[in-house]
Amino acid sequence: MEFRFCPKCAAPLVLRTDGEAGADGDKARLACPDGHWTHWDNPLPVLAALVEVEGKILLARNAAWGPKNFALITGFMERGETPEQGVARELKEETGLHAEVTTLIGVYEFIRKNELIIAYHVKASGEIRLSPELVEVRLVSPEKLRPWRAGTGYAMADWMRARGLEPEFLDWGTQAPADE
Ligand SMILES: [Zn+2]
Repeated sequence: MEFRFCPKCAAPLVLRTDGEAGADGDKARLACPDGHWTHWDNPLPVLAALVEVEGKILLARNAAWGPKNFALITGFMERGETPEQGVARELKEETGLHAEVTTLIGVYEFIRKNELIIAYHVKASGEIRLSPELVEVRLVSPEKLRPWRAGTGYAMADWMRARGLEPEFLDWGTQAPADE
């Protein structure tokens, strides 16, 4: 999001490296010239779910993506919910599945999008009903997963290693996992 004016006094924001805005060195930040407000631009937490249904991992293709882009279920947290509640809510909204057991895989950088990924392994049950956001899902055996070298791909790789599976990485957008 782009900010141009101070939310308190409406003065045009300026790049500052002094005072609080620059307390950790010479990093320039957009701030009010009178010191009311600093645009910290902190990374946003994103929840990701590696969803297991009857021993297989669910990968989903977003409506906005190409035919070979399959990934984990992701979404932003909402106010007043724990990350575990948030990941269960996203799973329900996007796939209709019910989260049974939720276990943290790890926390991963996604600096390119200024996000922080909190990744969970979610054992789920129920009938798959996709939201309009998703167009296709695949259920893949864990040993056939092919992670990508970014964000949620590293979470998938760590989950595989924890099960004694050596991940074989593919470029993002070439996963197109076969069923079974
Ligand atoms: Zn101001």
